[in-house]
Amino acid sequence: MQELDSLKFSNKFSDLPEVFFHKQSWTPFDNPKLIHFNKDLAEILGFPNNLDPEDFVPYVNGNKPFKQSAPLSMVYAGHQFGSWVPQLGDGRGILLGQLQTRDGLMDLHIKGAGKTPYSRFGDGRAVLRSTIREYLCGEAMHHLGIPSSRSLIMIGSDEPVFRETTEFGAMMVRVAKTHIRFGHFEYLMHNKKSEFIPILLDHVINIYFPELNESKDGYSDLFEKIVHSTARLIAKWQCFGFAHGVMNTDNMSILGETFDFGPFGFLDDYNPGFICNHSDHSGRYAFNNQPSIGLWNCHALAAALKDHIEIERTKEIINSYEKIFYDELTFIFRKKLGLNETHHDDLKLVEDLLSWMERNKKDYTNTFRALSKENRLLFKDELGKKWLEKYEERLKMEKTPSADRKKAMELINPKFILRNYLAQEAIQDAENFDYEKFNTLLELLKKPFDENSEYENLAKAPPEWGKKLEISCSS
Ligand code: AMP
Ligand code: MG
Repeated sequence: MQELDSLKFSNKFSDLPEVFFHKQSWTPFDNPKLIHFNKDLAEILGFPNNLDPEDFVPYVNGNKPFKQSAPLSMVYAGHQFGSWVPQLGDGRGILLGQLQTRDGLMDLHIKGAGKTPYSRFGDGRAVLRSTIREYLCGEAMHHLGIPSSRSLIMIGSDEPVFRETTEFGAMMVRVAKTHIRFGHFEYLMHNKKSEFIPILLDHVINIYFPELNESKDGYSDLFEKIVHSTARLIAKWQCFGFAHGVMNTDNMSILGETFDFGPFGFLDDYNPGFICNHSDHSGRYAFNNQPSIGLWNCHALAAALKDHIEIERTKEIINSYEKIFYDELTFIFRKKLGLNETHHDDLKLVEDLLSWMERNKKDYTNTFRALSKENRLLFKDELGKKWLEKYEERLKMEKTPSADRKKAMELINPKFILRNYLAQEAIQDAENFDYEKFNTLLELLKKPFDENSEYENLAKAPPEWGKKLEISCSS
């Protein structure tokens, strides 16, 4: 397919010194099968309109190289569950390069591509199960308005991959603004390669924040941007009930996008202590710990950058995390409650609602969605009625007509989220070569705020079995 050869990859990362990566091709599957191609995203990336996705498969599978791409695996390090790991890297991933879009440069990265020098004891593969979860979640997050890696294409194979049981292997191409992680800087700092830190900082500034080239103190301004985008991202996670599950510093994008989806989970019943990752025995990455872990990770990044940013400035930036987080949190929660005016007690109103949800085991997403509808039916008990009274009192401060308010609330309180049990059902069918549930779910998640009443059952809180699914790190 000639048009694919003409895709204009820029390979800015591969122009950096070799200390940052290993240039390589990857290991194809014998029998690759197209599972899904995301035409909307392909269009944004400038793929030819008339592309037959089957023609894309050999490129993804590694049988045909893109003419203009310089594929590589990246090296980085990180703090995993708080412990320092001096070397990690793309153990099963390949960065193809960047494509220019109207939103700037976008990385294309293949996950599940086989062994690299950073595979350690792994096989370099990803199983169909985890690839489906990542594929769905990237799109779900993006369409909820949460910065995230996205999903361009997924291919499957009959190649067996050994985890707790034998599973099928799959690969996907994910698209993200960057694959540079906090762990890239930590790797350089803690492995006596700190002379390369300014090179990476300059690279990030030149590509993503060229305006900082004019700044007196570009490195500290960059650090501030990273800290603030992290704080805002995690505020969004909290507002939409998303638990990442593995907030290691190697899974933190320096541009504040959600990525490296593993045992993530959306809240069903509101449970602030929700631990989505079955392997997280101490609850380090529990839902309500995410904001402070985000800050912990920023500290780890600060330590890696300590020779390049003045200490007082670092402290100032770190100290601003909390305010940025709460400002964003309050901003979104106000919208979720349909509040345009600001009142100093608004966050308290949210907190009271959350306590009520927790006490009554209410579904987080559906409760917010219902707020603009069947209020009285929802709050039947004494505490609930009291809260509703306060809310209605607060609504009197609002100038927006109530019909408009309700409409606006439906554009921020989703009806459809990627519930674990829905992903699980889609996976079970896909493992039996039936992709209908997967396709339906993906289409719904691309329009999470639409009513789509024929799919009412996919908006319901999970059945009991669906609340008890255990998702581990194995992927
Ligand atoms: P993750 O928990 O998926 O973010 O992965 C942590 C580290 O382990 C990263 O460096 C991955 O590239 C690596 N890794 C995970 N799974 C595999 C695998 N199956 N083969 C090789 N490396 C892997
Ligand atoms: Mg990772």
